[in-house]
Amino acid sequence: MKGAAITVKCDCGDIRHLSYGESWACTCGRRWNTHQIPPEEYWGLMRAMRAERIKVIASAGAIALSFLVLALVVSGSFFFLMPVAVSGWYLLFMPRWRARLRARARAAPTWSLRPE
Ligand SMILES: [Zn+2]
Repeated sequence: MKGAAITVKCDCGDIRHLSYGESWACTCGRRWNTHQIPPEEYWGLMRAMRAERIKVIASAGAIALSFLVLALVVSGSFFFLMPVAVSGWYLLFMPRWRARLRARARAAPTWSLRPE
């Protein structure tokens, strides 16, 4: 699993985006090591974000599948309603989902690293 980038802000004001486990030697001489972040906290957050993405894909799949079943069992015209339903879902659900994800990213923990 690939983790999201970690924003590291040096005391001198320089900012760098690092992957988990990466360290960065700032031009001011401080060294920052993202390994100081507890792995269970970082990966726990990544798992939660991934679970959100899976939920979205799964619900889109569930809608498409239920229309496919309706088309096969009830009437073929449901087949043509499927794109409508999926795009309706996309328009209604996705903005809310993105807002929730953004709120979650804002609430994401910040860790204070110590220069090495
Ligand atoms: Zn610096």
